[in-house]
Amino acid sequence: MIRLDGKIASQSVKQSLKIEVDNLLAAGKRPPHLAAVLVGSNGASETYVASKVKTCEALGFASTLIRLPENISQDELVSKVQELNRNEEIDGILVQLPLPKHINESAIIEAIDASKDVDGFHPISAGRLTLGLPTFIPATPYGIQLMLEHFQISTSGKHAVVIGRSNIVGRPMSILLSQNHAYGNATVTVCHSKTPNLEEICKSADILVAALGKPGFVKKDMVKPGAVVIDVGITRMDDSAHPKGYKIVGDVDFDEVAPISSAITPVPGGVGLMTIAGLMKNTLLAYQNRTTAS
Ligand code: NAP
Repeated sequence: MIRLDGKIASQSVKQSLKIEVDNLLAAGKRPPHLAAVLVGSNGASETYVASKVKTCEALGFASTLIRLPENISQDELVSKVQELNRNEEIDGILVQLPLPKHINESAIIEAIDASKDVDGFHPISAGRLTLGLPTFIPATPYGIQLMLEHFQISTSGKHAVVIGRSNIVGRPMSILLSQNHAYGNATVTVCHSKTPNLEEICKSADILVAALGKPGFVKKDMVKPGAVVIDVGITRMDDSAHPKGYKIVGDVDFDEVAPISSAITPVPGGVGLMTIAGLMKNTLLAYQNRTTAS
């Protein structure tokens, strides 16, 4: 069984990004610049944004963190995004989700200039991905693809089952796996909460991607022996034994499933680290697109 270690794979991606940024700086150019917008003070969002900003610093990217109050109106948030769109110094914009209930997330995502949409959630990015055109791939599926590449896990001709059809994980993951490229060419089944016989379908998967947000959902009897198992789930569960008072749990029962799988991602330490690597690659791409276009 191969442990698909996100630390190892993400370090490799980040090292090559750092070399590219060092070369830009050595040539007297400015670094790629990511703007992260954080609305309110959701604990998990704070943690995600902090690690994105920290990664920018470590790789030599510029970053700007914009903190906005929980009670900001939708119009005010759109204006803020438009201001960032106009800022020539900023290459990538991400608005950390989820947003407060009174704000329509789609309206905010659509307000982002598609050329700066490093999260890959804008309809233009999603449409281009569906058509197989160059675009920003949502960071989590992109990170999973980078992980498959790093560990040279072949997907061609395999049956891939993706549990979850969200716009940020399941749906784009299923598109990537089905595309005609080196780490695609799988035959893909997408499952969701209305899928009957889920267990049977999962059991037929050579590659099983669990992205449903239900801790420990995937058990041994849902997995074909020798399958590759990718656990996207991240759920915070109270744990008084942990210094932070909570632990992070994935969608796969790792202890049961790992012994029968051929490769599996741990949680934490798996897909989450790759997501940041995917975001950084998108930010460099946005920079390259903008600087070569001007
Ligand atoms: P989401 O928007 O809530 O989507 C969950 C999907 O799972 C939906 O399509 C839902 O089906 C499906 N689902 C729910 N219960 C199911 C069940 N019992 N059987 C089959 N399908 C079921 O969640 P998300 O944003 O995609 O995130 C999924 C998980 O990944 C969460 O734990 C999240 O925290 C994590 N995540 C991790 C990363 C990372 O970097 N590792 C990044 C993003 C998200 P319906 O469509 O029918 O409702």
